[in-house]
Amino acid sequence: MSFTLHGIGASSGIAIGRAHLASPSRVEVAHYVLPADQIDSEIKRFEQAVEQTREELRNLRSQIPAHAPAELPAFLDMHLLILDDNMIDEEPKRLIQEQQCNAEWALTQQMEALVARFDEIEDAYLRSRQEDVVQVVQRVIKTLVGHPSTALPQAELAEECVLVAHELTPADMILFKNTKFAAFITDLGGSTSHTAILARGLGIPAVMALHQARSLIHDHEWIIVDGREGVVIVDPDEKVLEEYRAKQAKWRHETEKLKKLKTSRAVTLDGAAIELYANIELPEDMPAVKESGAQGIGLFRSEFLFLNRDDLPSEEEQFEAYRTVLKEMGDKPVTIRTLDLGADKQAPWGHTVADNPALGLRAIRLCLAEPRLFETQLRAILRASAHGKARILIPMLGNFGELRSTLQLIESCKQNLRDQKIKFDDHIPVGGMIEIPAAALLADQFAKQLDFLSIGTNDLIQYTLAIDRADDAVAHLYDPLHPAVLHLIQHTIKSGKKSGRHVSVCGEMAGDPRLTRLLLGLGLRHFSMQPASILAVKQQVMRSMLDEVTDHAQRLQKNTDPEKTPSLLDKLNS
Ligand code: PEP
Ligand code: MG
Repeated sequence: MSFTLHGIGASSGIAIGRAHLASPSRVEVAHYVLPADQIDSEIKRFEQAVEQTREELRNLRSQIPAHAPAELPAFLDMHLLILDDNMIDEEPKRLIQEQQCNAEWALTQQMEALVARFDEIEDAYLRSRQEDVVQVVQRVIKTLVGHPSTALPQAELAEECVLVAHELTPADMILFKNTKFAAFITDLGGSTSHTAILARGLGIPAVMALHQARSLIHDHEWIIVDGREGVVIVDPDEKVLEEYRAKQAKWRHETEKLKKLKTSRAVTLDGAAIELYANIELPEDMPAVKESGAQGIGLFRSEFLFLNRDDLPSEEEQFEAYRTVLKEMGDKPVTIRTLDLGADKQAPWGHTVADNPALGLRAIRLCLAEPRLFETQLRAILRASAHGKARILIPMLGNFGELRSTLQLIESCKQNLRDQKIKFDDHIPVGGMIEIPAAALLADQFAKQLDFLSIGTNDLIQYTLAIDRADDAVAHLYDPLHPAVLHLIQHTIKSGKKSGRHVSVCGEMAGDPRLTRLLLGLGLRHFSMQPASILAVKQQVMRSMLDEVTDHAQRLQKNTDPEKTPSLLDKLNS
């Protein structure tokens, strides 16, 4: 029976494919029933994965660098203990036998049972250790995925699969960068969560916050995903399929047409040149950057080098990653944001997660609490700066003490490199992200002490409106057009201009073509976004007159009647 679900359109485009259900647990895996003659080999596959994981953990333990946070060795020891427990390395074998299921599924079922027992523990600290069990299981599953079961149907990996999950983390999404899905849909999540941002980066349609999708949709059912409207149609009839095939063809044609703009300059009708930069997570994103014709990298989210692993990337490994990107960009700027771990991007060895992680030890706060970790990164960036036009960007600045400590640390790393006669760019620009309202209000003071500013609207909206950007329950209140948000953006742009500093927006607002004219009207001239959005934003820039959009943008910025907002935005965009 056909039915329709409504959620948040997280990444536009239309996909038509068969549902591939991920497991309802925190570790998303598929479930297969195995033929009886494959049970023994499946158990062997499980045993090998556990042994390989044990070996990996021991190796990691022996290679911990001296500067690593003290939590890291203790964390690995605990994981080795968990892995050696019968509950993890024996019990799943019984489940494979009994339920004739694949190893990933058996392990996940066992994990769920253990997590449920942890949930009953009263002591909050002990209860939170369930996370370690989940992480160990995740590690074994990753190993299993590297050695796929012979029972895994090939169609499950094909491009016409729509992944249906309860929740996906940013770290999961990074793994999907190497897997082809037609689309993905989730029960949870908000449109500026890092998971949604990564989906846009993959250029595949996505709908989030569907609430019940995981329980209402069956494996292999045909579904249509409309990522722009946030609509999912399950088991569509032939007429609806026809309609969406036509829409899909139109969308593909428009995307193809946009490619013609790749080498055009982003100039408004009245001659103002606008800079369009790309946001990336990993050096692997460079082909997409090249495709987009970006004029530089405005945000390299360096923390993604730290996810999906239990060890720390060494200075050398980081240096190589930064240098690769710098060399590929040649004389174009590459803005490397220093580590923004914490909140929804937790490294497994990180500090205990607070009740309110978005307000906790994340980004620059975490880096200043772990100076050795920070120095390693700063040295890697500085060394790489000898190979291109690098810029350093500090995330989540909230006060001038943090800024001073960071600048001092950069200076001491520079001195160290000078002493060691290692080359670097002594004039490397240092910028700050404006994503806390306190920093936006005092943007003029921050601008005086920095070389450039970049507005992180995803967090600025979250902190200004007190709306968790990843929580779909309050997603309807997450409003980029709130006059307070627009006021802070405009104030920051003006403050930068007064001090002669570039101000960019690198949050998701910059990549939404419906907001391009608004941002131009608020005075923005530097945009940074997912590479997949650059051409659509360029098209908007090329169709805009600054004078006109400025007037309309002022009206929107002063508007306090939410009912008028859509029509004001329409006028701006017409
Ligand atoms: C932002 O907050 O707008 C931003 C660009 O940083 P992130 O999305 O990585 O938090
Ligand atoms: Mg941010």
